[in-house]
Amino acid sequence: MKSKIEINNIPITIERKKIKNMYLRVLPPNGEIKISAPLSISQKDIIKFANSKSDWIKNKQEKVIKESEKAKKRQIKYITGETHYLWGKPYTLQIIKKNKKYNNVFIDNNKIYLPVKENSSFENRQKTMIEWYREEIKQKIPEILETCIKIVGKRPNEWRVKNMKTRWGTCNVQKKRIWINLQLCKKSPECLKYVLIHELTHLYIPNHGKDFKNLMNQFYPNWKETKNLLKKEKYY
Ligand SMILES: [Zn+2]
Repeated sequence: MKSKIEINNIPITIERKKIKNMYLRVLPPNGEIKISAPLSISQKDIIKFANSKSDWIKNKQEKVIKESEKAKKRQIKYITGETHYLWGKPYTLQIIKKNKKYNNVFIDNNKIYLPVKENSSFENRQKTMIEWYREEIKQKIPEILETCIKIVGKRPNEWRVKNMKTRWGTCNVQKKRIWINLQLCKKSPECLKYVLIHELTHLYIPNHGKDFKNLMNQFYPNWKETKNLLKKEKYY
């Protein structure tokens, strides 16, 4: 028997089993929270239990997500033959020697060409790729943002791009400034649109409460679908 609750914006799955004690687990890679509870215990007591643990959960969640991300990052080596993504489309990475003609990342057919100096380190390659992603998303944002502004009816004072670890975007409501995670350019442009609409909607409602959800339903009826798409795999 499974059910879902939410404590301080943290979704928790509760599973009732024939067990004696209550167990709380934080699962990789996304820090999903699961509580296994005895059949006899009341829902109220489970919520009380979860509430008393909410600080611990948040800390643990951060750790689990960080660890999973580290593990994932280790998997990416920036070597020829690896799959890398741009706007939701997979490309094969091809490492080439950096020279006057080839000194920046470029795409040809289904390949991303990454020019590197001799003996370039993982960090060098990663940095070059991130800077390339940054430029890609900066080029894409203005066009999609205009569409989103028309839908939402709010315009930010400015937008900026940042490489973020745990969020796809943020909105400084006072300054009307939107931050977009450059990692979004690995996802389909639809995801960027969703995040932009989400952040613009914060210019009406700063929190994620009922009013916010109502507006999202209006501006972007499929938001749940796209949100799940983003959750499914955070980083390639
Ligand atoms: Zn938000």
